[in-house]
Amino acid sequence: MFNKLSFKIGLLFFVFILVFESFLFLALYTNLANERIDEVMESTLARGNTHRDVLEDNFNRSTLEHVGIMESVSAFVVIVTDENGNVIVSSDPIKQEMMNVMKRTRNNSIPTEGKIVEDRWKQKQYIATESPITINGELQGNVFMFANTNTVKKIVDQLGLQFVFIGLITIVLTIIAIFFLTRFITLPIIKMKEATEQLSKGRNKVELHTERKDELGELAESITKLSNDLEQLKTARNEFLASISHELRTPLTYIKGYADIINRKSTSKAEIKEYTAIIRDETDQLSELVKNLFELAKMDQNKFSIIREDVNLCDLIKSVADRIQPVFAEKNIMFSVHCQEDIIAFVDPERFQQVLINILDNAKKHSSIGDRILLEVRETTHELHIFISDEGEGIPKADLPYIFDRLFRVEKSRSRQSGGTGLGLAIAKEIVESHGGRIEVQSKRGKGTTFIITLRRGEPNEEGTVS
Ligand code: ADP
Repeated sequence: MFNKLSFKIGLLFFVFILVFESFLFLALYTNLANERIDEVMESTLARGNTHRDVLEDNFNRSTLEHVGIMESVSAFVVIVTDENGNVIVSSDPIKQEMMNVMKRTRNNSIPTEGKIVEDRWKQKQYIATESPITINGELQGNVFMFANTNTVKKIVDQLGLQFVFIGLITIVLTIIAIFFLTRFITLPIIKMKEATEQLSKGRNKVELHTERKDELGELAESITKLSNDLEQLKTARNEFLASISHELRTPLTYIKGYADIINRKSTSKAEIKEYTAIIRDETDQLSELVKNLFELAKMDQNKFSIIREDVNLCDLIKSVADRIQPVFAEKNIMFSVHCQEDIIAFVDPERFQQVLINILDNAKKHSSIGDRILLEVRETTHELHIFISDEGEGIPKADLPYIFDRLFRVEKSRSRQSGGTGLGLAIAKEIVESHGGRIEVQSKRGKGTTFIITLRRGEPNEEGTVS
């Protein structure tokens, strides 16, 4: 529970909000309490000033008594003194604290608008104001007003209680708000956690709501995509394994079959020779298949290193052409190369030769006697394009999207006879892409096929690894 994300986020929110709220509440409370206290003091002073005004108009016995009687029924205490500080009238019995205030202020000069002479409401029982009675410019006495501080204390206490009450309600509301807020944030995370657990347990398809447009929505989308990719990967792996076992089973069946025939007593020497040759061919093909599969597996594991260097592309193509020329001659194929002399490409020469041989070998296999094959290099500012075109049988349109897939062959049986493993183009694609380039195909049934390799120019001198 304490390790839960919702609890941690909630606690963090709560502490922050509590600190802010406490600070704001304290500031508000102090402000309001001070305002209330000021109000009480101002009203006490105003009351004293009113008595003073009345007395300045009629400074006689009856007015003095009238003032005393008036305040005797109020919560205030009024004391009027003469110019020497002697008490002339008082509305209530005079307490020692009142005497002390009057004595303390005796020789102070008080402004005509009066003054608060005791404001320590927390320590004292009374707050006090003094209003001087001035008639014709001469000080005749003073009106002292005393207000019991219990009133102020009560007001402040009540305010405090109200604040505590509101504070508690705010805390409860904050907790409720945080609860929903954290659920809003953590619920999708919990769902995603469950989804990834399902994925690791082997369930491939997980459904997450991805309509949220924030980071959590993006994360849910990524997890859903991951699960889809995983599903596709598993299907592809199963299909690939099925294809491999099929590819291996066919030559093995042949080998076993012919080995059995050879072992028969009735088999003639000529037949034995013929069947041994077939077994050798099949074994060669098996070795080729296993070698290519191993290459691809290395590429998949990023263990396939390419060592790139600046290479004269035309020289590289010419050496490939020299190697492959005798094979073309067998079929009377006219092979021409168009390449400007000084084109430099940043490639791994061995691997790149492999790409060209794979494509040229295919071109030969699918061309008829006397056809032409053309290899042409064109360059632009940023790219190099290598076109390899033949006039062979072409590839059906429906098969074009799969031509670079592993173990894909247009005509399985014929391709097998001609020694095809269905891996040549897949390997070529991996190599070209590991050079940061791309490989495309254009083909028309009956007209011929063109493979286009595009490489970026101006790569830095470095060793690369397939990624
Ligand atoms: P394979 O080793 O069987 O030739 P590839 O991966 O090299 O495998 O080629 C895949 C398939 O693409 C081949 O089986 C073939 O049907 C088709 N193909 C490749 N190159 C050509 C081409 N130049 N003309 C016609 N078909 C081609």
